[in-house]
Amino acid sequence: MLDDKLRVGVYGGTFAPVHNGHVDSAVAFMRQMKLDYLYIIPTCLPPHKEVDFADSPEERLRMCELAFSGIDGVIVSDMEIRRGGKSYTYDTLRELSGEDKKLFLLCGTDMVLTFDRWYRFEDILGMCYPAYVRREKDKILEGRIIAKITEYYNKYGVMFRRILTEPIEISSTDIRLAIKEGRDISGMVPPLVAQYIKERGLYV
Ligand code: ATP
Repeated sequence: MLDDKLRVGVYGGTFAPVHNGHVDSAVAFMRQMKLDYLYIIPTCLPPHKEVDFADSPEERLRMCELAFSGIDGVIVSDMEIRRGGKSYTYDTLRELSGEDKKLFLLCGTDMVLTFDRWYRFEDILGMCYPAYVRREKDKILEGRIIAKITEYYNKYGVMFRRILTEPIEISSTDIRLAIKEGRDISGMVPPLVAQYIKERGLYV
Protein backbone atom coordinates (compact mmCIF):
# COMPACT_ATOMS: atom_id res chain seq x y z
CA MET A 1 0.00 0.00 0.00
CA LEU A 2 1.27 3.51 -0.75
CA ASP A 3 1.85 5.67 2.33
CA ASP A 4 2.27 9.42 2.38
CA LYS A 5 6.07 9.42 2.16
CA LEU A 6 7.65 10.89 -0.92
CA ARG A 7 8.91 8.22 -3.28
CA VAL A 8 12.30 9.37 -4.50
CA GLY A 9 14.39 7.53 -7.07
CA VAL A 10 18.16 7.62 -7.47
CA TYR A 11 19.95 6.66 -10.67
CA GLY A 12 23.68 7.29 -10.69
CA GLY A 13 26.35 6.60 -13.24
CA THR A 14 29.33 7.92 -15.10
CA PHE A 15 27.08 8.89 -18.01
CA ALA A 16 30.00 9.39 -20.41
CA PRO A 17 27.87 10.04 -22.35
CA VAL A 18 24.30 9.50 -21.15
CA HIS A 19 22.46 7.40 -23.76
CA ASN A 20 19.01 6.11 -24.73
CA GLY A 21 19.38 3.01 -22.53
CA HIS A 22 19.74 5.28 -19.50
CA VAL A 23 16.81 7.51 -20.46
CA ASP A 24 14.49 4.63 -21.24
CA SER A 25 15.32 2.81 -17.99
CA ALA A 26 14.92 5.98 -15.95
CA VAL A 27 11.44 6.63 -17.35
CA ALA A 28 10.34 3.01 -16.78
CA PHE A 29 11.74 3.17 -13.23
CA MET A 30 9.75 6.32 -12.48
CA ARG A 31 6.53 4.84 -13.79
CA GLN A 32 6.82 1.35 -12.34
CA MET A 33 7.96 2.43 -8.88
CA LYS A 34 5.44 5.31 -8.92
CA LEU A 35 8.15 7.81 -8.03
CA ASP A 36 7.33 11.38 -7.12
CA TYR A 37 10.69 12.38 -8.52
CA LEU A 38 13.94 10.88 -9.71
CA TYR A 39 17.50 12.11 -9.20
CA ILE A 40 19.93 11.51 -12.03
CA ILE A 41 23.37 11.86 -10.50
CA PRO A 42 26.54 11.80 -12.59
CA THR A 43 29.55 10.67 -10.60
CA CYS A 44 32.56 12.83 -10.02
CA LEU A 45 34.98 9.89 -10.16
CA PRO A 46 33.43 6.42 -10.55
CA PRO A 47 34.76 4.17 -7.75
CA HIS A 48 34.65 0.98 -9.79
CA LYS A 49 36.27 1.82 -13.09
CA GLU A 50 39.29 3.46 -14.65
CA VAL A 51 38.40 6.11 -17.19
CA ASP A 52 40.43 6.61 -20.33
CA PHE A 53 38.42 9.37 -21.96
CA ALA A 54 38.66 13.11 -21.79
CA ASP A 55 35.42 14.73 -20.79
CA SER A 56 34.78 16.74 -17.67
CA PRO A 57 32.23 16.10 -14.92
CA GLU A 58 30.55 19.37 -15.94
CA GLU A 59 30.16 18.15 -19.52
CA ARG A 60 28.68 14.84 -18.34
CA LEU A 61 26.31 16.78 -16.11
CA ARG A 62 25.29 19.06 -18.98
CA MET A 63 24.58 16.08 -21.22
CA CYS A 64 22.32 14.61 -18.51
CA GLU A 65 20.46 17.92 -18.26
CA LEU A 66 19.95 17.90 -22.02
CA ALA A 67 18.90 14.25 -22.12
CA PHE A 68 16.29 14.62 -19.39
CA SER A 69 15.03 18.10 -20.22
CA GLY A 70 11.31 17.88 -20.74
CA ILE A 71 10.85 14.74 -18.64
CA ASP A 72 8.68 15.69 -15.69
CA GLY A 73 9.89 14.72 -12.24
CA VAL A 74 13.56 14.28 -13.14
CA ILE A 75 16.15 16.28 -11.22
CA VAL A 76 19.68 16.17 -12.60
CA SER A 77 21.91 16.74 -9.61
CA ASP A 78 25.52 17.86 -9.32
CA MET A 79 25.78 16.66 -5.71
CA GLU A 80 28.47 14.03 -6.40
CA ILE A 81 30.44 16.40 -8.59
CA ARG A 82 30.30 19.08 -5.87
CA ARG A 83 31.35 16.54 -3.26
CA GLY A 84 34.43 15.75 -5.38
CA GLY A 85 36.66 12.68 -5.35
CA LYS A 86 35.32 9.16 -5.67
CA SER A 87 31.54 9.05 -5.65
CA TYR A 88 30.02 6.55 -3.28
CA THR A 89 26.32 5.74 -3.46
CA TYR A 90 26.32 5.31 0.32
CA ASP A 91 27.23 9.01 0.79
CA THR A 92 24.66 10.09 -1.77
CA LEU A 93 21.82 8.13 -0.17
CA ARG A 94 22.77 9.49 3.24
CA GLU A 95 22.59 13.00 1.86
CA LEU A 96 19.20 12.39 0.26
CA SER A 97 17.54 10.39 3.00
CA GLY A 98 14.95 11.84 5.35
CA GLU A 99 12.01 10.81 7.50
CA ASP A 100 9.55 12.01 4.89
CA LYS A 101 11.07 9.97 2.03
CA LYS A 102 11.42 6.46 0.71
CA LEU A 103 14.46 6.07 -1.51
CA PHE A 104 14.55 3.75 -4.52
CA LEU A 105 17.83 2.90 -6.24
CA LEU A 106 18.15 1.80 -9.86
CA CYS A 107 21.03 -0.08 -11.40
CA GLY A 108 21.64 -2.09 -14.54
CA THR A 109 22.31 -5.84 -14.55
CA ASP A 110 26.10 -5.46 -14.54
CA MET A 111 25.84 -3.49 -11.32
CA VAL A 112 23.52 -6.04 -9.68
CA LEU A 113 26.14 -8.73 -10.19
CA THR A 114 28.85 -6.65 -8.51
CA PHE A 115 26.67 -4.85 -5.98
CA ASP A 116 28.19 -6.72 -3.02
CA ARG A 117 31.53 -5.08 -3.81
CA TRP A 118 30.15 -1.55 -3.47
CA TYR A 119 31.33 0.53 -0.54
CA ARG A 120 29.06 -0.20 2.47
CA PHE A 121 26.58 -2.11 0.34
CA GLU A 122 24.88 -3.64 3.37
CA ASP A 123 24.14 -0.17 4.69
CA ILE A 124 22.89 0.82 1.24
CA LEU A 125 20.41 -2.07 1.34
CA GLY A 126 19.07 -0.71 4.60
CA MET A 127 18.62 2.77 3.18
CA CYS A 128 16.68 2.15 -0.02
CA TYR A 129 14.56 -0.17 -2.11
CA PRO A 130 16.89 -1.46 -4.82
CA ALA A 131 15.70 -2.16 -8.35
CA TYR A 132 17.41 -3.36 -11.49
CA VAL A 133 16.84 -3.22 -15.21
CA ARG A 134 18.02 -5.65 -17.87
CA ARG A 135 20.55 -4.20 -20.31
CA GLU A 136 20.75 -7.20 -22.61
CA LYS A 137 18.20 -9.21 -24.57
CA ASP A 138 20.28 -12.36 -24.34
CA LYS A 139 18.89 -14.64 -21.66
CA ILE A 140 22.36 -15.91 -20.89
CA LEU A 141 22.76 -13.76 -17.79
CA GLU A 142 19.28 -14.55 -16.50
CA GLY A 143 20.37 -17.48 -14.32
CA ARG A 144 23.29 -15.56 -12.81
CA ILE A 145 21.12 -12.57 -12.01
CA ILE A 146 18.39 -14.64 -10.39
CA ALA A 147 21.02 -16.51 -8.34
CA LYS A 148 22.59 -13.24 -7.22
CA ILE A 149 19.28 -11.65 -6.31
CA THR A 150 18.28 -14.76 -4.38
CA GLU A 151 21.61 -14.64 -2.57
CA TYR A 152 21.01 -10.99 -1.56
CA TYR A 153 17.54 -11.90 -0.37
CA ASN A 154 18.72 -14.89 1.65
CA LYS A 155 21.66 -13.06 3.21
CA TYR A 156 20.25 -9.59 3.74
CA GLY A 157 16.48 -9.98 3.49
CA VAL A 158 16.26 -7.47 0.65
CA MET A 159 14.69 -8.19 -2.71
CA PHE A 160 15.83 -6.34 -5.83
CA ARG A 161 12.74 -5.44 -7.82
CA ARG A 162 12.86 -5.81 -11.55
CA ILE A 163 11.97 -2.91 -13.81
CA LEU A 164 10.47 -4.22 -17.01
CA THR A 165 11.64 -2.68 -20.26
CA GLU A 166 12.58 -3.80 -23.71
CA PRO A 167 16.38 -3.78 -23.24
CA ILE A 168 18.33 -1.23 -25.23
CA GLU A 169 21.67 -2.86 -25.84
CA ILE A 170 24.02 0.08 -25.82
CA SER A 171 26.77 1.30 -23.56
CA SER A 172 28.64 4.56 -23.29
CA THR A 173 31.73 2.62 -24.38
CA ASP A 174 29.96 1.70 -27.67
CA ILE A 175 29.16 5.34 -28.24
CA ARG A 176 32.69 6.58 -27.55
CA LEU A 177 34.00 3.93 -29.95
CA ALA A 178 31.47 4.87 -32.63
CA ILE A 179 32.55 8.51 -32.37
CA LYS A 180 36.24 7.54 -32.67
CA GLU A 181 35.42 5.54 -35.77
CA GLY A 182 33.37 8.37 -37.26
CA ARG A 183 30.09 6.44 -37.11
CA ASP A 184 26.68 8.03 -36.63
CA ILE A 185 25.45 8.02 -33.01
CA SER A 186 22.07 9.61 -33.61
CA GLY A 187 20.13 6.41 -32.79
CA MET A 188 21.99 5.92 -29.53
CA VAL A 189 21.68 9.22 -27.66
CA PRO A 190 18.98 11.90 -27.44
CA PRO A 191 19.29 14.50 -30.25
CA LEU A 192 20.38 17.34 -27.92
CA VAL A 193 23.15 15.15 -26.53
CA ALA A 194 24.35 14.23 -30.03
CA GLN A 195 24.44 17.90 -30.91
CA TYR A 196 26.36 18.81 -27.73
CA ILE A 197 28.94 16.05 -28.31
CA LYS A 198 29.48 17.34 -31.83
CA GLU A 199 29.77 20.98 -30.80
CA ARG A 200 32.27 20.20 -28.04
CA GLY A 201 34.19 17.66 -30.11
CA LEU A 202 33.90 15.10 -27.32
CA TYR A 203 35.32 11.56 -27.50
CA VAL A 204 36.98 12.02 -30.92
P1 ATP B 1 30.48 2.42 -19.86
O1 ATP B 1 30.26 1.74 -21.17
O2 ATP B 1 31.34 3.66 -19.94
O3 ATP B 1 30.93 1.47 -18.77
P2 ATP B 1 27.62 2.40 -19.26
O4 ATP B 1 26.91 2.44 -20.57
O5 ATP B 1 27.69 1.09 -18.54
O6 ATP B 1 29.07 3.04 -19.39
P3 ATP B 1 27.18 3.93 -16.84
O7 ATP B 1 27.14 5.40 -16.80
O8 ATP B 1 28.39 3.26 -16.29
O9 ATP B 1 26.93 3.49 -18.37
O10 ATP B 1 25.89 3.30 -16.17
C1 ATP B 1 25.10 3.93 -15.20
C2 ATP B 1 23.99 2.97 -14.81
O11 ATP B 1 23.17 2.71 -15.96
C3 ATP B 1 24.49 1.58 -14.35
O12 ATP B 1 23.63 1.11 -13.31
C4 ATP B 1 24.33 0.72 -15.59
O13 ATP B 1 24.16 -0.65 -15.28
C5 ATP B 1 23.08 1.32 -16.22
N1 ATP B 1 23.03 1.16 -17.67
C6 ATP B 1 23.99 1.43 -18.57
N2 ATP B 1 23.59 1.14 -19.82
C7 ATP B 1 22.33 0.68 -19.73
C8 ATP B 1 21.37 0.20 -20.70
N3 ATP B 1 21.64 0.11 -22.00
N4 ATP B 1 20.16 -0.19 -20.22
C9 ATP B 1 19.88 -0.14 -18.90
N5 ATP B 1 20.76 0.29 -17.95
C10 ATP B 1 21.95 0.70 -18.35
